[in-house]
Amino acid sequence: MEKMKNTSMFDLSGKVAMVTGGNGGIGFGIATELANAGASVVIAARNTSKSESAVLKLTSMGATALSTELDATDENSVQSAINMTVSRFGKIDVLVNNAGTNIRKFPQEYSIDEWGKVLGTNLTSMFLCSREVHPHMAQGGGGKIINIGSMTSIFGIDWGAPYGASKGGVVQYTKSLAVAWAKDNIQANTILPGWIHTDLTSKIKTEHPERYSSITSRIPAGRWGEPPELGGTAVFLSSSASDYITGAVIPVDGGYASF
Ligand code: NDP
Repeated sequence: MEKMKNTSMFDLSGKVAMVTGGNGGIGFGIATELANAGASVVIAARNTSKSESAVLKLTSMGATALSTELDATDENSVQSAINMTVSRFGKIDVLVNNAGTNIRKFPQEYSIDEWGKVLGTNLTSMFLCSREVHPHMAQGGGGKIINIGSMTSIFGIDWGAPYGASKGGVVQYTKSLAVAWAKDNIQANTILPGWIHTDLTSKIKTEHPERYSSITSRIPAGRWGEPPELGGTAVFLSSSASDYITGAVIPVDGGYASF
């Protein structure tokens, strides 16, 4: 019997997606679901052995995946990672700007270097990667940019002011891309993860259990999320199902932002 053609709007077969910080946590959860939907995936991060094991997991499930070393805060590194992707696959259809970091302290305690590190990793990285993919997407007839914000894109945070400043900036930066690049058929949207179990947040549970409990009690779903739970929204925003959606801000948070 002839195999039925996949006509799902969510099908990503033939698409090429780069996920910054895709070697673990939310980035890997997203990379896995993009691969499951048929995309070829490039894992771009600094830790090359972690990226190689992420690639191994993806290829062992039958996906096309490779890794490239990327420091998303460094202009030359961004250029070479995107050049590598385009020379390997001939194009780039989807960019997920997921790389991120946090330094948790009170606002008066930050040094300028710490401020710069958080802003650079969470926000300037998006500028560098988005600027670099733009000509490839525009010449290729369009593309999808998915930027990862946070609940701190909406709410103030006592214990991470540069993180909150960067994540607030992510929303407005993404809206600017949406407006500027609509004519190039590039859709740019923001996902706001709620509280998700990853390396970035693991110390809250182990070192600050009272904070962990008070966060959990404020989540309407009654639990933290897991990285794969970001994957469905990322597939949607990478697919033709979202072609008329740009500049949107979508919480994936168990109801936290509605409470
Ligand atoms: P992880 O610490 O697990 O992942 C962060 C990733 O970013 C790592 O893969 C890391 O890889 C990469 N990264 C960090 N700095 C750079 C850099 N300079 N260049 C390239 N890659 C870099 O954290 P999460 O998965 O939790 O975080 C992913 C995103 O989700 C972040 O933007 C974070 O702010 C956001 N987020 C997370 C939430 C949560 O509850 N976990 C909630 C809201 C938002 P490597 O070290 O190899 O470079």
